[in-house]
Amino acid sequence: MTAKSIIVLGAGVIGTTTAYKLAMDGHDVTVIDAEDGAAMMTSYANAGLVAPGHAFAWASPAAPKMMIRSQWRGDQAIRLRLRPSWRQWKWMLRFLRECTTARAHHNTAIKADLCRFSQLHLHRITHETGISYDGETGGLIYFYRNRDGYRATAKKADLLRANGTTVEELSPRQMVGRDPGLFKVEPLIAGALFAPGDESGDAHLFTTALAEVARGKGVTFAFNTRIRRLVCDGDSITRVETDKGDFTADAYVLCLGVNSPDIVKPLGIDLPIYPVRGYSVTLPITDKAAAPRMGGIDEDNLLAYCPMGDRLRITATAEIGGYDRRFKPKDFKVMLEKARPLFAHCADFSQPRYWVGLRPMTPNGIPVVSQSPVDNLWLNVGHGHMGWTMASGCAAITADIIAGRTPNHDIGGLAYGHN
Ligand SMILES: Cc1cc2nc3c(=O)[nH]c(=O)nc-3n(C[C@H](O)[C@H](O)[C@H](O)COP(=O)(O)OP(=O)(O)OC[C@H]3O[C@@H](n4cnc5c(N)ncnc54)[C@H](O)[C@@H]3O)c2cc1C
Repeated sequence: MTAKSIIVLGAGVIGTTTAYKLAMDGHDVTVIDAEDGAAMMTSYANAGLVAPGHAFAWASPAAPKMMIRSQWRGDQAIRLRLRPSWRQWKWMLRFLRECTTARAHHNTAIKADLCRFSQLHLHRITHETGISYDGETGGLIYFYRNRDGYRATAKKADLLRANGTTVEELSPRQMVGRDPGLFKVEPLIAGALFAPGDESGDAHLFTTALAEVARGKGVTFAFNTRIRRLVCDGDSITRVETDKGDFTADAYVLCLGVNSPDIVKPLGIDLPIYPVRGYSVTLPITDKAAAPRMGGIDEDNLLAYCPMGDRLRITATAEIGGYDRRFKPKDFKVMLEKARPLFAHCADFSQPRYWVGLRPMTPNGIPVVSQSPVDNLWLNVGHGHMGWTMASGCAAITADIIAGRTPNHDIGGLAYGHN
């Protein structure tokens, strides 16, 4: 393999892990990002769950009904806010095409495989670098208030089990045995699923620490630098035009999250990625001994929670409604009302830190990790609701294909044009 100069476009968790893997291969790597540090956009305050045990496709037979109900009810898992936007409607049509049982099973299998593969690479990176990021191993708990919902998902988990992921069924009592911090939850639920191989951690801490390691290996980070366009000559990119001047390299990797489609559209590359908005609140933990020891999801309220050192992160909502990241404290009222009975005994709800992020979703939930139609451009985009889980594996795949090595993972489903 010949070492190249490579520009990674974007310093989220995806771009930074990719830059690290490329630097480990001996390439001369520059990362460009508009923000003043790594992981300042969608990778900033996500739920932190590394969750192969929750790799179900969002596009399922249940999704269209949720979207219709979301027009008059605010409690639906997936909410649709229709916009006068051709991009949104085209994405929606593609999403609806994925909502059959057969497609949902197919997409779940690909996602679950990729998540497990990625987790191995996450462990490899943490072992190589020794970085810490408020990580917790030992499993994640997914609990259900509704008995029918619990039974249905316990059965659906066979899809994950078939791929080698362990998913156990727990009674409410067994769940509290696993995580005593959930004692308030016990009387409220029908049962829980426990994925002992799942884990968690702060994606922002991980990414900023990894960026430092990468810098030590020679990677240059050009922050506060907005990419305007990619300039092509024939079938190759010749330069990246930014507000700080031009950058050139032998090869380019696109990792711009929800902004990826706009940058490559002029090159004739159609990326079916649309933002799915989510809300996040971080609270100080006041009683560590009584707090949950592992992360998880209150499935009926669609509330993810995760202990991160002395903080408790809570996230909710999947809203298909455009690129707006603005929010008001009142937008968080409902999720906080749902979270308070579960965690008021151990977290300080008077000091919330609010945040909104846009998940870069493809219609089938599978990222695009492949060569692009442009000769020297590679794509690592569209990781949707699982980018933290998938980052390390997708970075390894990208480094392999750029090096001309065969990835140790089936990448057929990740190719450009498959979404
Ligand atoms: C509420 C919520 C909860 C989530 N929970 C989880 C979870 O528990 N587990 C999990 O695995 N995933 C989770 N996710 C998903 C995960 O956070 C994303 O998939 C992941 O962060 C996407 O990373 P990225 O690097 O592709 O995008 P980003 O982090 O957005 O990175 C893209 C980068 O590109 C830069 N950029 C964009 N345009 C330009 C430009 N023109 N010029 C220069 N720079 C530019 C941005 O500044 C940004 O730094 C969650 C997401 C949300 C919103």
